Amino acid sequence: MKKHPFAFYLLPFTLLIIVSCSPKLHKVDTAKVYSRQTDSVVNIIEQQQPAMLTDSNGAAIPSDFIGTVNFNLRKPNYVIIHFTAQDSVAQTIKTFTIVRTQVSAHYVISKDGKVYHMLNDYLRAWHAGFSKWGSISDMNSCSIGIELDNNGNEPFQPAQISSLLALLAHLKKAYNIPASNFIGHQDIAPVRKPDPGPYFPWKILAQHGYGYWSDDVLELAPDNFDPTTALRLIGYDTANLNAAIVAFKRHFIQTDETPQLSQLDLNVLYNVMQKY
Ligand SMILES: [Zn+2]
Repeated sequence: MKKHPFAFYLLPFTLLIIVSCSPKLHKVDTAKVYSRQTDSVVNIIEQQQPAMLTDSNGAAIPSDFIGTVNFNLRKPNYVIIHFTAQDSVAQTIKTFTIVRTQVSAHYVISKDGKVYHMLNDYLRAWHAGFSKWGSISDMNSCSIGIELDNNGNEPFQPAQISSLLALLAHLKKAYNIPASNFIGHQDIAPVRKPDPGPYFPWKILAQHGYGYWSDDVLELAPDNFDPTTALRLIGYDTANLNAAIVAFKRHFIQTDETPQLSQLDLNVLYNVMQKY
């Protein structure tokens, strides 16, 4: 019997390594899992069962399911902007296509402006985490998450912002999202999250109708102006007031991130508050 060269024995292992590293195969696998997940969502929304309710004595409350014929899908009403804090789009796509990370977003935008759509807009991505805005405590259920490829310590690329603006125009029109509801991860999770950070061009976004920015000419905040109430009125969770102030400053001041409010900061806050 002819002796096989050593390389022959290595072949299956080599193939295994090539297969497990291939992005194409990973994409096919991801598509399969995505389909299974959407099937399970369809199964849930097709159920026609009444809620099983009991009264204070534990007795069943009579109930029935009679399907109405008038309905459609719920729409997202917020857009939450993030930076990935990762080194490449490939790394982020990998993060969002392996189960153990338990994180995702609807869109990822690369530095050169390519837009990766990763989840149907009507489905709930896992991008906001524990967060609060006004009285909304489940931001994932009402928002679209957009991740920008950016390590957190660098300016955003013009091509990336240009694609973002195009995407926001589409989302705003498709779901009738008000200008006030384009906000950042830092705004809804001030204690935990710093993104999209002080480099993010909120002023440019506001000029296009996504989110707000202070006016060029500012009125002096009145003597009895209460910044905590103003922050809450905008939507910030002020349970940790310092964190809320820092988040506000990362968004609307962008030149310093201390938890103190200067007279100028107060004037900006007073001005921005009136837009909400
Ligand atoms: Zn984020």
